[in-house]
Amino acid sequence: MDETFDFVVVGSGGGSMAAGLVLRKAGKSVLILEKEALVGGSTAKAGGVMWIPNNRFMAPAGVADSHEKATTYLDAVVGDHDDTPGATRERRDAYIREAPAMVDFLVSQGIKLRRSPYWPDYYDDRAGGSEPGRTVVAELFDINELGPWKDRLRPNMFTMPALIYDATQLPLVKVSWRAKWLGFQVVVRGALAKLTGKHLVTAGAALQGRMLQQALKVGVELRPESPVKELILEDGAVAGVVTVKDGREWRVGARSGVLLNAGGFAWNQEMLDKYIPNVRAEWTHAAPGDTGDMHKELMRIGAAMAQMDEMVGNQMTLPPNQGPAGVQMELSKPHAFMVDQTGERYMNEGGSYMEFCQRILARNETVPAVPSWMIMDSQFIANYMIGGSMPGSEKPKLWFDQGYLRKGDTIEALAKACGMKDPTKLKAATERFNGFARKGRDEDFHRGDRAYDRWLGDPTHKPSAALGTVEKGPFYAVQVVPGNVGTYGGVVTDTHARVLREDGSIIPGLYATGTTTASVMGRTYPGAGCSIGPSFTWGFVAAKHAANLGNQPPVA
Ligand SMILES: Cc1cc2nc3c(=O)[nH]c(=O)nc-3n(C[C@H](O)[C@H](O)[C@H](O)COP(=O)(O)OP(=O)(O)OC[C@H]3O[C@@H](n4cnc5c(N)ncnc54)[C@H](O)[C@@H]3O)c2cc1C
Repeated sequence: MDETFDFVVVGSGGGSMAAGLVLRKAGKSVLILEKEALVGGSTAKAGGVMWIPNNRFMAPAGVADSHEKATTYLDAVVGDHDDTPGATRERRDAYIREAPAMVDFLVSQGIKLRRSPYWPDYYDDRAGGSEPGRTVVAELFDINELGPWKDRLRPNMFTMPALIYDATQLPLVKVSWRAKWLGFQVVVRGALAKLTGKHLVTAGAALQGRMLQQALKVGVELRPESPVKELILEDGAVAGVVTVKDGREWRVGARSGVLLNAGGFAWNQEMLDKYIPNVRAEWTHAAPGDTGDMHKELMRIGAAMAQMDEMVGNQMTLPPNQGPAGVQMELSKPHAFMVDQTGERYMNEGGSYMEFCQRILARNETVPAVPSWMIMDSQFIANYMIGGSMPGSEKPKLWFDQGYLRKGDTIEALAKACGMKDPTKLKAATERFNGFARKGRDEDFHRGDRAYDRWLGDPTHKPSAALGTVEKGPFYAVQVVPGNVGTYGGVVTDTHARVLREDGSIIPGLYATGTTTASVMGRTYPGAGCSIGPSFTWGFVAAKHAANLGNQPPVA
C-alpha cells in the first residue's frame, strides 16, 4: 500500500460524509476519494430532501408518526418481493430505526436541519401514509463559510435563496398570493445576503455544503480528482482501493473497511441499454460522475446485484439548447394531461415521478409512448410554467421552429401537428378529460384523489386543484420522455450495509450505500427524499459497524 487509513470512502455522495463524521467521532482516520473535480455528487445538485420516518421534528410540530406506522406504510407501498433483495423486511425495519437516529446524530454535530411543513408521502392514501409528510431538509447555507473549498462544491440546479419546499410553490406566482409573497421574500433575502457578503445556497448544496464543512472541521480527508479504479482483495476480504495520485496508480489500504458511495449509472448508455432500455443518458439530471464504475467493479468481484432495471424516473421535456427540463410539477397542474403517440390518455399525470416513468416505459411495450405528448390549452400557458419559461410569457420562436412546442387552433389540428394518425382519438381523450375536470373527479386514473397529487397541482383552482379543462384554444403540446434523476439498482447489502456475494455471504471489509446499491425502497418511491435519506442512513450504519459501535449511536 502507498498509504493506509482506517476507513476509505469511494465517492463524495450522500452517505460519505455522514460516515466520515461517525468514524472521526470514534477516533478513526477517514479518506474520501472523489473522481470529479467537484464534490457532493448528485446529492449536492439535488433537492436535498431526505425521507426520514418518525423524525425528531415531527412530534414537536404535532405530526403523528411511529416506527409501527412507518412499517405499515412501507409494507403497503414497498412490500415483500422475491426480486427486490435490497428491500427485505429486515432492511426496511433497520431503515425505519436508523434513519431518525442518523438525523439525531447529524443535528448533534451541528448540521442544521428542519422538516418540510407539508410534503405529502407519495402514496399518502395508503395505510400508514403521512399527509404532512416525513421529509427533512437542510437550512440555507452560506458557502462562503467553506473558504477555499467553496468552489469545489457541486452547484445546485436551483440558485435562488429559498428553502426547497418554498421553491416548489414559486411557479404558482401568477395565480397565488402566497407564491407572490414567497417570491418577494426570496428577492429581499437575496439582496440582504449580497449586502452582507453572503452566498446562500439551498437544497442539496446546502446539505452537502454543511456536511463538507463539518467533515473538514473534524479532520475527514477529502480528495477530489481521485478516481477509484479497483478494489484490492486479500483472502476474499477488501483491504483497500486503487486510485490515482499525481498521475500514477496509488494503492490505499483500509484497516476498518471501504464504503462505496459512488452513485449509479445514469450516464452510462451501454449499461442503460442493457438494464433500462428506451432510456437515454442525456435525459438525466444526475451528476456526470454517475457512470457505474463501482457497479462494474462489484460485478467483477462477484457481488450480488439486483433491481438494476429501476431508476428514479423523472418526466422530462427537451427544450432546444438547454438540458432536459423536469416537467412533473407542470404536468400535474390543471389544464394539461398526457397521451401516448396515438392520442390516448393512459395514466394519472400526478403522483410519484418514479411510477410515472415506469408507466411510460410499460405503455411503450404495447403502444408507442416514448416520447408521449403533454397536451395543454391557453389557460395552462397563461398561468403555469413550461420548459423553464414563465407563465404567460411569449415562448421562444426557436421552440416552434424546431418543433419542440407544437400548436393548433383546434385539438384536431394539434393532433396533426404532433403527427397523430387519427386526430379523433385525441379529440375523444380531451372531451373525456374535460368531463372529469368539470366534475373535479378523474374516474379513469384518479388524478387528484391523493393529497400529493393536489399538492402538485394548483390549490387556487376549483373544483379540483389537479384537474382543469383543456378547452381554450390555441392548444399546445410538448414531448415528454422518461428521464431520471439517477438509477436505483446495484449491489445487495445487509442491515449493516455490508456487501453480499451472490451466495448471500458477506464480503468482509466492504460496505455500500446510495445508488451504488439495490434500494431499500425496492421498485417504489414512497416519498420525497427516498434516495438521499437512505444514502445518508446506510453510510451512517456502515460507519457504526466499521467502528464496532453495533447499534449504539456514536457519542454525540
Ligand atoms: C436535480 C435532482 C434533484 C433530486 N432531488 C432529490 C431529493 O430531493 N431527494 C432525494 O432523495 N433524491 C433526489 N434526487 C436523487 C438523488 O440526488 C440521487 O439519487 C442521490 O443523490 C444519489 O446519492 P449517492 O449518495 O448515491 O451518490 P452521489 O451523490 O451521486 O455521489 C456519488 C459520487 O461518487 C463519485 N464517483 C463515481 N465513481 C467514482 C469512482 N470510480 N471513484 C471515485 N468517485 C466516484 C461521483 O462523481 C459522485 O460525486 C435528485 C437528483 C437530481 C439530479
